[in-house]
Amino acid sequence: MRRLGQILDQIHDRIHEEADWGLPAQYIPELASVDREQFAISAVTPDGQCHSAGLAQRPFSIQSISKVFALTATLGRIGDALWTRVGREPTKVAFDSIMLLETDHGRPSNPFVNAGAIVTTDALLAGREPRQALAEILGLVRTMAGTDDIYINDRVAQSEKRTAERNKALAHYLASHGNLVNDPDLTLGTYFHQCAIEMTTEQLAMSGRVLADLKCAPPTISRAHARRTNALMLTCGHYDASGEFAFKVGLPGKSGVGGGILLIAPRKASIGIWSPGLNGYGNSEAGTRAAAMLADMTGWSVF
Ligand code: GLN
Repeated sequence: MRRLGQILDQIHDRIHEEADWGLPAQYIPELASVDREQFAISAVTPDGQCHSAGLAQRPFSIQSISKVFALTATLGRIGDALWTRVGREPTKVAFDSIMLLETDHGRPSNPFVNAGAIVTTDALLAGREPRQALAEILGLVRTMAGTDDIYINDRVAQSEKRTAERNKALAHYLASHGNLVNDPDLTLGTYFHQCAIEMTTEQLAMSGRVLADLKCAPPTISRAHARRTNALMLTCGHYDASGEFAFKVGLPGKSGVGGGILLIAPRKASIGIWSPGLNGYGNSEAGTRAAAMLADMTGWSVF
């Protein structure tokens, strides 16, 4: 294998040559205006070294990648009790679809589609103030990443809240089935703020060290939980494109509509990728291709 730094530089150059960027998320006004011709990739190895190419120090909105952190916090707090309220199956519908909730009697398919993430956040919030649940998620992210320089962008949270008809519908439908324990507005407010956490690819790569079982990782999650989170990332982390992502990349990954991807190469590396333009599934267009290039060039795959 060529040196990792060179591989990342090559990927960066190819992404810019191909100039196939997709479009930033249009339904969150604050994200719609982000310049799409941006790219960054960072990878941390078991020796703790972080290699990067591109805009690796530019913070971006992690959006649904926060679902990994909220899940980690919730499993730490209530353990397997979460699974009575959320399933563990992939879906062939969009991440914000309400369709399966009706046939599944208000039990979301998995914790990474919006409905499942709203229930997960609701479970974390139970009996507390939103700021306490948010402090727990943000504290966990900072510990996992090994830095306190990570914040929530309130403008992005408010921007999403103003255009959140779909997520409101999901929350109220869940509530109608008794699968929310808090006021839907409080749960949604917490969810929008967790989605509005901003990180750089460097920080994102650092935060995934424990999931990748790297020696340099802080012990913030048990091996059993980390294994299961990886399984969910592989099968559900890219929504209805998870099969395609597993086929082309072969690594657990979690995307967000901010254009980020957290990618885990167990015992080899934890990787953060960002490019804000999306494909039709709401996953980063250039980021997804970069993940496939990295897997090809390194031979990293769980298979
Ligand atoms: N906050 C976004 C939403 O709920 C997150 C979606 C995503 O990143 N896929 O729609």
